[in-house]
Amino acid sequence: MKAIVLRAPKDISIMEVSDGSRKENEVMIKVRGMGICGSDIAAFKGINPLVSYPRIIGHEIAGEVLEAPEGETELMPGDRVVIEPYVYCGKCYPCLTQRMNCCENLTVRGVHVDGGMSEFCYHPRHLVHKAPADVSWTHLAMVEPLTIAIHAVQRAHVAEGEHLVVTGSGPIGILAAQYALAIGAVPIVVDPLDERLALARSLGIPYGINPVKESAVERIREMTGGRMAEAVVEASGSDAAIRSSIDYAAYSGRISLVGWPKGEVSLVTAMITKKELDVMGSRNSFRDFQESIDLIAGNRIDVASLVTRTVSFGEIPAAVKEIAAYPERFMKSVALM
Ligand SMILES: [Zn+2]
Ligand SMILES: [Zn+2]
Repeated sequence: MKAIVLRAPKDISIMEVSDGSRKENEVMIKVRGMGICGSDIAAFKGINPLVSYPRIIGHEIAGEVLEAPEGETELMPGDRVVIEPYVYCGKCYPCLTQRMNCCENLTVRGVHVDGGMSEFCYHPRHLVHKAPADVSWTHLAMVEPLTIAIHAVQRAHVAEGEHLVVTGSGPIGILAAQYALAIGAVPIVVDPLDERLALARSLGIPYGINPVKESAVERIREMTGGRMAEAVVEASGSDAAIRSSIDYAAYSGRISLVGWPKGEVSLVTAMITKKELDVMGSRNSFRDFQESIDLIAGNRIDVASLVTRTVSFGEIPAAVKEIAAYPERFMKSVALM
């Protein structure tokens, strides 16, 4: 079969690889929709320390069931499915405490092990989620990114009526803001790119702030009646945004860090203490796939507007190079096969 292979950093191509075979508890899937993620781009650039080479990339994978395990009653050949790409060990402390998303021995498809950008893939049955037949492959490729956003918002314990500041309006930031709307919270997006703020506005997100052009702290103070935001989701990984999240949060507020910074970030921890902030990491997602599929299938979250480009399987290598060179030009790219 053909696969998208990174032989080394900056070396991406379509290669002929072994078809492989299905293990007992695995589902064989014909891959149909693939999201190109920022982490695939980081793997291409060679700046994701978790990636080893050569590697088939891709973890945002939707497809059609070709073969299900014996005795399977729910999944039938032809069913549409989405894979949950985080394979956990089930034995370590986080696994034993139902936090499998941050398993010590986690192997993520397309990162630690081969991913799903190939004609077929095989995935453990318990990490394969069925989707309704009438949801498009483009929409289904967005299920995994939406789970990341759901998890980030849930880690910040956002409640109805609360203000949620989202720093960074890439796909995860915008999805987090849309999810906040879906649960009745009030999202405020902070991003230095005006086009991204305009996109957020077109999706019904009531507040957008460009922190380069205006004082985000002052604007958030006005928007929250002086309180500041009960919750912040940091989805940019930028040093400045991580530092500012402490200023954006209300006293006794919560901060969820989902963006990956490039290095160490220094923080005024005295403010964390003074405000008694809860600062939470948010990694991958856990048990959020069904909710994500339901939100997308029910058109309660508009994922299609984030997909600014669709490419064919054959165009993935060129698309990856282009996104790596001009990241701000592409919101979300999806490949279809
Ligand atoms: Zn991703
Ligand atoms: Zn584990």
